[in-house]
Parts: sequence; C-alpha cells; structure tokens
Amino acid sequence: MSKVVDYPSAMSPVPSATSPEAVLVPPPLLPLAPPRRRATFLPFSPPSVGEEEVEAVTQVLRSDWITTGPVAKLFERRFAAAVQAPEALAVNSCTAALHTALAALEIGRGDEVITTTMTFAATANVIEHVGARPVLVDVEPDTLNIDPARVAAAISPRTRAIIPVHFGGHPAALDAIDDLAAARGIPVLEDAAHAVPAAWRGRPIGADGRLVAFSFYATKNLTTAEGGMLTGPSDFLAKCRVLALHGMSRDAAERYRVGGSWSYEVHRPGFKYNMPDLQAAIGLAQLQKLDAFARRRQEIVARYHAAFADEEALETPVTRDGVTHAWHLYPLRLRLDALRIDRARFIQELTERNIGTSVHFIPVHLHPFYARTYDLAPHDFPVAYANYLRLVSLPLHPRLTDAEVHDVVEAVYDVVARFRR
Ligand SMILES: *Cc1c(COP(=O)(O)O)cnc(C)c1O
Repeated sequence: MSKVVDYPSAMSPVPSATSPEAVLVPPPLLPLAPPRRRATFLPFSPPSVGEEEVEAVTQVLRSDWITTGPVAKLFERRFAAAVQAPEALAVNSCTAALHTALAALEIGRGDEVITTTMTFAATANVIEHVGARPVLVDVEPDTLNIDPARVAAAISPRTRAIIPVHFGGHPAALDAIDDLAAARGIPVLEDAAHAVPAAWRGRPIGADGRLVAFSFYATKNLTTAEGGMLTGPSDFLAKCRVLALHGMSRDAAERYRVGGSWSYEVHRPGFKYNMPDLQAAIGLAQLQKLDAFARRRQEIVARYHAAFADEEALETPVTRDGVTHAWHLYPLRLRLDALRIDRARFIQELTERNIGTSVHFIPVHLHPFYARTYDLAPHDFPVAYANYLRLVSLPLHPRLTDAEVHDVVEAVYDVVARFRR
C-alpha cells in the first residue's frame, strides 16, 4: 500500500528549534507503514452453532413431524424454566412475539404505545401493524435505555402500553416504568431481543408473568436462525397461541395426531407465527450452552473494558447496580472532540483493518417513514441522536478467541492513535 496517510500526532517528526530549515520547510509527507491488518475479515456476529445443533436438526428431519409439535413444546417449557416464566410461546421472530402481544392486548386504531427511539425499527413497526401510533421518547445518557422521565411526559389519555427495550442486554429501569404503567393501568411489554440471560434486581428478564418478547435471530445471544419467544401469564399466552396460528382453536399437531379430530374454529383472523420443530431443535441445543455463552461474553467484555477504560477518545458501556447484563452488544462510544474523524470514517478504518462492526441503532425517528409520518427531526431526541453519531458496536460473541479480541483492541488503538486530534 503506497497511500499517504495523515501524521498521527505521536509519530510526527518534531522540528528542531535550532534548525532554521525546520521552521521554513514543512515536514515531508512520508508514507506511513500501513496498519497491521488481520489476514482474514473478522465478522461482527457469526452464529455460535456446533455439531449439537446439526444433530438436533437432523433428528427432527428424520422424524415424521418437522413443523410445530413436541420439540417446540419442549423448547417452550425449557425456555420458560430458564427465565422463570410461568409459560412461554415459541414464535418465528421477536417481531411476531411483539405483534401478537399487542394484538392480544386489543391495541389498535386511536391508541398510542410509548417506546424508545433507540431500537431496531421492528419495535415501532409492530405498533404500526396494529394500527396504533408509536410515541417515541428519548433515552438515558448512560445506558441508552428508555428514559422514564420522558415516558412520564409522553403519557396521554390514549396511551395503551409501554414497550421498553433492554438496549444491548442492559435491563431498562423497570421499577420506574412499572410505576408509571401501574398508575394508568396499562401493560408493560418488554422487548428483550438482546436480554437473554439478563436479570433485573435478581429476577430474570422474562420471569414472574411479565410480558416479554425475545429474539432468536441469527445474530442474537441464543439463535434458532429466525425465531422468538413470548413469556407471560398462562391465560394471556393462551390467547396469543391462538392468534399466532391463524386464530385457529386447535393446532396442527393436535389435529393430525392419532385420534385427533379434523375440526377447528376461527374466531379472529390470526397470524402465521408458529415456530417449527426444526428450529426449536436448534433452540434446545442452544439453551444448553447459554450459561457458557454468557460467561464467554462477560470475559470478552472484561477484556474490552480493561483495554479501553483509560483512553480519553473512547467511552465504554456502563452497567448499573442491581442488573445482570446479557452483553448482547459492546456499544463503544467515540469522543468525537478527541478525534479528527467521524464515526463513519472510524468504521471504515476498522473495516480496512479487517474488523467487522455495526451500529446500534439508527434511531427510529431518523428513518424516513417515521420522520415523515410524525414530522420528526433528528434533534427532537437529542440524547439518542448525539449518541447515534458516535456509536460503534464491536464484535462480541462466544466464538471470539482471545487473539481475535486482541486484534480488535489493536485495530481500535491504531485508528485512535492515527486520528487523535
Ligand atoms: C433483533 C431485534 C428485534 C427483532 O427481532 P426478530 O427476531 O428479528 O424479529 C426487535 N427488537 C430489537 C431491539 C432487536 O434487536
């Protein structure tokens, strides 16, 4: 590579004060040694699946039942036990879980649902799907979770639910949110796409009959390629179970089993959101590894924290007292005033060093649909917007080796050193 790079301040030749030349002649533009680069691209978040998952899927494929049936039931029971939920409903995505819950809560036209702008668009999209209005609010500056004070200010007579998102795996301030919801008699539906296994004040996210939607998307802490789970009280989940399968009174496994009846009734046009046994088999294998996955995530986070804590150009993610963090993401924040480059260039520099990264999230209010429909400007949510501009998610998954973590740290430091202001 013969590209001429800016001088990193630490390596700039210092002109000698005694040499008149040094004052008159600008330092020559020396081609810097190219940054050390990994031999291969380090992907941001590949799935952590092994032979156990392959074996489990093969077994289902060789059986006579491949869609929703006994394996999905078992996955529901084991997942519910893992998060101490009274019951769980397996569906084909977290989006489906959120949508089904809103529909079962009979939320629709004329209703408002409060959620955070710092989330994946799916959280807001499902509110649109039921015909309600998403009321976006800003986040807390430390956790980037929904700000209860902003929720309080956004509550109106039309508010029918609050959807906090456990950003990056750090539980939202559920006590304050619960108080606001209880005062108005409205439900809290948690988007826990990032939060397995996580805990709030000693209780697992998903426990105690709370309404919680989980994601098993390919990049998430536990994956079934695509998939999701809804936890909640048994009577509520019974309603969701019907809605998630066409609104039919009895599922296919029941109808097709020996002695099963062909008859069923549809009382409401439901959705096609059931999770097939094929995918539930992956989930069961993943569930067995969840504790080990969580430990490895914590180890990697400890390494990142130690490496970046004292670097003034970087801000590491926080953990509040009383929470167990699921560490789905490692959202590093750049202190842009300490750097000569913006976030986009920072990511480009990491990509050139063969390090995959991502940004979580492009705030919902920046997406054209929401900006246009609700007349929202970037600075309407100043905390989310200012942080969006400086967020970079680093690779964080159980398969990362210590050497790979070292490569990420080295690449980040190389970029910081070259582009320090
Ligand atoms: C991934 C994600 C979702 C959607 O999950 P799917 O299972 O892909 O539907 C929802 N909310 C958040 C915060 C997510 O990160």
